[in-house]
Amino acid sequence: KKITIAIDGFSSTGKSTLAKQLAKHLGYVYVDTGAMYRAVTLFAMQNNCIGADFLDKEKLVKSLPSIKLSFKFNPELGFAEMYLNDVNVETAIRTLEVSSFVSAVAAISEVRSKLVEQQQEMGKEKGIVMDGRDIGTVVFPNAELKIFMTAGADTRAQRRFDELQAKGDSVTYEEVLKNVVDRDYVDTHRDDSPLVMAEDSIEVDNSYLDRKEQFDVVLELVNE
Ligand code: C5P
Repeated sequence: KKITIAIDGFSSTGKSTLAKQLAKHLGYVYVDTGAMYRAVTLFAMQNNCIGADFLDKEKLVKSLPSIKLSFKFNPELGFAEMYLNDVNVETAIRTLEVSSFVSAVAAISEVRSKLVEQQQEMGKEKGIVMDGRDIGTVVFPNAELKIFMTAGADTRAQRRFDELQAKGDSVTYEEVLKNVVDRDYVDTHRDDSPLVMAEDSIEVDNSYLDRKEQFDVVLELVNE
């Protein structure tokens, strides 16, 4: 029987890596909700709704109906890439600049309700792994399996730093650590759907687990 798997947790805890592995193994659909918030943020940057020292919330909220988000499976990569108004933005949404603005955009209620609605629509079909911050609490409170991923901020910053460096991004470890800590703060303190662990979710701390160990731990939970 196919189920719904909700994976929540802090930034850079390896949620998407785990979710992709699970979806592939189980033949499920994987949905990266962080990519959706990132795509809205990219739209906001491209349309002068957000910058280093301003956020024009009203303008962004007014533009929401003209933001079309979609996923398209890329068989070469083995997962679905993010499209913003039919343009592939999978790479463009992963910069530190987008990361530095995304939590402010994700704190806007109108943005959240639009994305949550689309996520619930995608989840009507069972056999889905969705990762984010509010999946087990808001999007799918009835998910059969809820995982909450944690790891120390320094471990997470180091992982994200290695990833960005490998892509040739010239960031410092300190900048990445600051971004991780700042996002944790905004994500846990916003009024609308702050990041909290659902009561019935299972916490997986992967500070000292590698990808394989983490996958094995969670697969066992799926099979229970
Ligand atoms: O998962 P990722 O780090 O790509 O998410 C980017 C940001 O999007 C998070 O820091 C958070 O502010 C926001 N987000 C959210 N709710 C989700 C997924 C992501 O608020 N379900």
